[in-house]
Amino acid sequence: GGFSELGLAQWLADACGGLGMARPTEIQGGCIPAVLAGRDVIGVAQTGSGKTAAFALPVLQRLARDPFGVFALVLTPTRELAFQLAEQFKALGAGMSVRTSVVVGRMDVRTQLRELTSRPHVVVATPGRLKDLLESDPSLSVVFRNSRFLVLDEADRLLDPCFEAHLRDVLAVLPTDRQTLLFSATMSTALIRLQKAALKDAYIYEA
Ligand code: AMP
Repeated sequence: GGFSELGLAQWLADACGGLGMARPTEIQGGCIPAVLAGRDVIGVAQTGSGKTAAFALPVLQRLARDPFGVFALVLTPTRELAFQLAEQFKALGAGMSVRTSVVVGRMDVRTQLRELTSRPHVVVATPGRLKDLLESDPSLSVVFRNSRFLVLDEADRLLDPCFEAHLRDVLAVLPTDRQTLLFSATMSTALIRLQKAALKDAYIYEA
């Protein structure tokens, strides 16, 4: 089958074709219908499996129908990954001019605060910097109050003790009636703990 058989709109299936993605990968075939159906998802897969599009495509489709406020918060462990994720959202979402904002260290804090208050659709952040911003301006939490999606990319690395406290602070500003999508190279006990704490009836894809 193709991307539209997974439930994606034609404009997104066309965007995939334009980016050289002829057919869904296995993880995309499993996760896209689950996300579109409103479920939480755990995807255990390596980089290179097509995991980014597995969450970006259904998030973009839902965003196109309900474009108000910050729609998705994507957390990832490094600045490089944050920029790559934002680029993929922009490329796949070019048809709807998706507004993305990257929140990582070594960038001007005031610029980032201004960007966030201009209500981007997708915020891609490293947990430490986002926690710092939320601390420096508590009113910023309002920006995230209506987020529909939380994506944890490379969740096994985000659960490193050096991130875990930041993660808790960030989770505290998100609404509980959101979808949580968690992608990880491995299934660890820390991940299962997070699943129990933050996910409901998750669809689990394991390569
Ligand atoms: P990721 O696992 O998200 O890091 O993706 C790895 C690479 O695979 C990226 O460069 C994507 O552009 C590419 N890719 C993702 N989905 C597909 C697909 N269905 N067909 C071909 N390439 C893809």
